[in-house]
Amino acid sequence: LIAFLLYLFYLVPPIGQLVQGAVQLQNGLAAMRRIKEIEDLPAEPVSVAAPAGSTPVGVRFEDVVFRYGDDRPTVHDGVTFEVPAGGLTALVGPSGAGKSTVFALLERFYEHQDGLITIGGRDIRDWPLADLRSALGYVEQDAPVLAGTLRENLLFAAQDATEDELRRAVTRTRLDDLVARLPEGLDTAVGHRGVLLSGGERQRVAIARALLRRPRLLLLDEATSQLDAVNELRLREVIAEVATETTVLVIAHRLSTVTNADRIVVMEAGGVRAVGTHAELVADDDLYRELAATQFLVS
Ligand code: ADP
Ligand code: MG
Repeated sequence: LIAFLLYLFYLVPPIGQLVQGAVQLQNGLAAMRRIKEIEDLPAEPVSVAAPAGSTPVGVRFEDVVFRYGDDRPTVHDGVTFEVPAGGLTALVGPSGAGKSTVFALLERFYEHQDGLITIGGRDIRDWPLADLRSALGYVEQDAPVLAGTLRENLLFAAQDATEDELRRAVTRTRLDDLVARLPEGLDTAVGHRGVLLSGGERQRVAIARALLRRPRLLLLDEATSQLDAVNELRLREVIAEVATETTVLVIAHRLSTVTNADRIVVMEAGGVRAVGTHAELVADDDLYRELAATQFLVS
């Protein structure tokens, strides 16, 4: 690292490049930290004959305590909630409440310090990492469209999917209109080197990409960008339909998503404050009422 710093110091006199170098160095350090965090995870359990297939799985958090590092503040301070297998559960709450951290723990990017997390009734620490990752579909917030064709984008993580499965994923995510409009259909280049997709289309492409891996639990961190009425309606239909086939846990940023949810978990400052349906929470919970009044759209 010191050699690298010296290298930077000697070789990049122009100030612009120097700043760029510092940014790269910082990115490099962040990546190194992340690698370190992954290395620090305990040894993986040996894979037992994993039940394959895409039967939906539920999730349970029980008194989960988590901080990102020993010297970091507590993010989850006894988080308890349940996500039944199948159906749509929404996580809502103000920015910083710890919603995305729930996903990071489920993906096992990090290890909780105390409490219990189960997926499919099984302690998350007992899941072989490869089985866990293949059981989970994860659609990150503002998921990127990769350079390449739409087909490549969809098959990115599911190279062995059949043409039928691909078509079905396109239909289920209401992307048929888009495919019809593109000059070369699925084989049209998209992303920064091709046709630019709208925010709503990008999000549905990311959902289709995740669905092609047949997840038993789909984690969806909804994009915060505004959608037009058509795209909002489509997203809502897609989520509702996917939730009939697998478990969907969505970090919801829009009211139209939660009004459909079977169960809503309201998080606040590292804890769960209330659980209920939209109607129940509007009646019972001040914070929820406030969030609903602003139509969500918090990060
Ligand atoms: P939400 O998604 O509800 O906005 P997050 O789970 O992203 O909340 O963040 C909860 C807290 O954890 C925040 O204080 C945030 O700054 C902190 N945090 C989130 N990700 C990290 C990380 N990778 N490293 C350190 N702190 C983090
Ligand atoms: Mg978040």
